[in-house]
Amino acid sequence: MLEFTVLSTEGLARRGRLVLNRGTVETPVFMPVGTYGSVKGVMPDSLEAMGAEIILGNTFHLWLRPGLDVLRTFGGLHRFEGWTRPILTDSGGFQVWSLGANAKVSEQGVAFQSPVNGDKLLLTPEVSMQIQRVLDSDVVMQFDECTAWQKDGVVAAEAEVRRSMEMSLRWARRSQDEFARLENPNALFGIVQGGMFETLREASVEALAALDLPGYAIGGVSVGEPKEEMRRIVGHTPHRLPAAKPRYLMGVGTPEDLVEGVAAGVDMFDCVMPTRNARNGHLFTRFGDLRIRNARYKQDESPLDPTCGCATCARFSRAYLHHLDRCGEMLAPMLASVHNLHFYVDLMRRVREALQGQRFAAFAAQFRLDRQRGV
Ligand SMILES: [Zn+2]
Repeated sequence: MLEFTVLSTEGLARRGRLVLNRGTVETPVFMPVGTYGSVKGVMPDSLEAMGAEIILGNTFHLWLRPGLDVLRTFGGLHRFEGWTRPILTDSGGFQVWSLGANAKVSEQGVAFQSPVNGDKLLLTPEVSMQIQRVLDSDVVMQFDECTAWQKDGVVAAEAEVRRSMEMSLRWARRSQDEFARLENPNALFGIVQGGMFETLREASVEALAALDLPGYAIGGVSVGEPKEEMRRIVGHTPHRLPAAKPRYLMGVGTPEDLVEGVAAGVDMFDCVMPTRNARNGHLFTRFGDLRIRNARYKQDESPLDPTCGCATCARFSRAYLHHLDRCGEMLAPMLASVHNLHFYVDLMRRVREALQGQRFAAFAAQFRLDRQRGV
């Protein structure tokens, strides 16, 4: 089940509400990534406390480990990982694509060797839908081919990107058929491809819109292309998608990218950046980014971000976090992840508030200024 309502708009930006089988998601929303069935280093109750309403799971990885037998025993991913709110799962397309030369793509699907035990496996649109049915995720993604921006140092030519995009469209139809055959009660999203070519993006949008899917994602960005290229596509594609359906920009990005995405009409985001950067001591704050490893924080009694309401900032100083990091304490990445995720989730809350008051443009301008100010 999926119901999406656009509550208000400002320019291309939208304030919306997504009703899924396991709960309501206020949009624009940031979705923390829980690749292996866990958001790295963060307890589910911490995620709930910071206001996360939906998280991601990864079809490819969960298929390999723990495998479908275990997930079936638990009736899906929610009970297995102790998360009762909505879950979105990707289709596995991006992960098999990341295997590069170890994966062989054909019209049927992607053949590859399991990086876990060497088994020969075939991931097809049908298999992806069957796995996501077992996971019982609230939002299911179509199986797609993520088009490489470049291969062996050569930027993908238009003909190659077109071939890939058209195959993703055929895979969208096969995903839709299998999703229906499995009587999946959740929502299936299509994925727009087309690389950095506006005309191909438009052809992909048009063909997917004709399938009348419950939601749409923009894939194939943030795959190594220069930032200006990404900006061009993020500015081009979202508002061309059906206005009544939720729009999800996959795998993007920095806090600035999110605000820019909202301005372009995006409703949903996910990215590993807040958790991955946290593990490397890279913290996001309202007034710019901060490297906690830096010696200047050794004696710093202030919290990471004095304007932050997260559990880390409520209790700990920069000096303490610096110390934990220097000692390689396991608490360091945990506290940093809580702060960074809170920053992303709370940024979207502030964006929604601004949209509600028709002052998003002013908010976005102030946000950029604040971030440039420096910690
Ligand atoms: Zn904080």
